[in-house]
Amino acid sequence: MDESKTHLSGTIPHSRPLIGRTEASAVANILQSGQIAQGSEVHRFEDDFVRYLGGGYAAAVSSGTAALHLVLAAMGIGEGDEVVMPSFVCTALLNAVNYVGGVPVLADIDPASYNLSPSDVEKRLSPRTKAIIAPHMFGGAVDMKSLSKFGIPMIEDCAQSVGGDYRGRPLGTIGAASIFSFYATKVITSGEGGMVYSSDKGLIDRVRDLRDYDGRQDYKVRFNYKMTDVQAAIARVQLSKLEAFIERRRNIALQYFDELTAFKLKLPEQKKGHIYYRFLIQPEANIEMVLRAMTAEGVGIARPVNKPLHRYLGTEGFPETEMAWERTLSVPIYPSLTDNQVQTILKILTKSL
Ligand SMILES: *Cc1c(COP(=O)(O)O)cnc(C)c1O
Repeated sequence: MDESKTHLSGTIPHSRPLIGRTEASAVANILQSGQIAQGSEVHRFEDDFVRYLGGGYAAAVSSGTAALHLVLAAMGIGEGDEVVMPSFVCTALLNAVNYVGGVPVLADIDPASYNLSPSDVEKRLSPRTKAIIAPHMFGGAVDMKSLSKFGIPMIEDCAQSVGGDYRGRPLGTIGAASIFSFYATKVITSGEGGMVYSSDKGLIDRVRDLRDYDGRQDYKVRFNYKMTDVQAAIARVQLSKLEAFIERRRNIALQYFDELTAFKLKLPEQKKGHIYYRFLIQPEANIEMVLRAMTAEGVGIARPVNKPLHRYLGTEGFPETEMAWERTLSVPIYPSLTDNQVQTILKILTKSL
């Protein structure tokens, strides 16, 4: 792209964290204290998080991937155990199952929600299935009720959906355990960071044991997956802003729905409890054209999933995932977008349709 080109709109990135002075002063306090690795601020963040979800137990870790790895290990999933996950997701899930020597089993999605299709999951179950990783993708809940009928432990992946709910229950509190990510592009951030949550104290105790190798009497394979107090200080402030962040996301989504329903375009499901981490559209026209038009005007638009897992693995049999990957785009939606920017995005987008 021509670097000298000035965009009418200025550049609008696909995602951008909203970090303010409160986060900066919280970090300054931690730095001055001299306790900058995992310490009391991490414990305070865990307490805040548990309070936010209305009870239970939580262990903060260094990333969402680390959270997935440790929850699988703490559940005793290992060599040869099958773990079901959707294909329309990032490779973090695949990595985590491979870290413990498990066998990833991919399933297709429900095209309406872009989440795991329970009827497809059912076809992929076997006597060796030990867990289902059920992500609530793009801020909307997966059909937990249908998935729970299989009687297989479920790990809710809430990396994209902290603060959302399913039939009035906070996401993350429904399955056997859940994981969260605080990576820079997520709903709330600490740069990098993650959380394992469960109502099972024993499980969280095992995660705590595994995340830190130092100062033990016994030896077993443990990890260094600790969150730092610096990260926790940022994350605590972000968590206090979560409700406001979600309100702003829903407000932007409404502006998109208002304008775009007049066009021939598949839009996200409008469901209570959705937090619109991403706003997915399926234009009738070739998405490459929409991608190029938006990019040329400086609007960060992207495929919502880089590449489906079955494509990395060279396998077939995921028609809905294929279709979603080929046709779906994600338009910018985050709390720091101004209404002017939202209107600019809409103007450029509708012109390109
Ligand atoms: C981002 C993400 C992860 C991994 O989190 P990291 O903090 O980047 O390791 C896992 N699952 C989903 C659905 C994600 O979006």
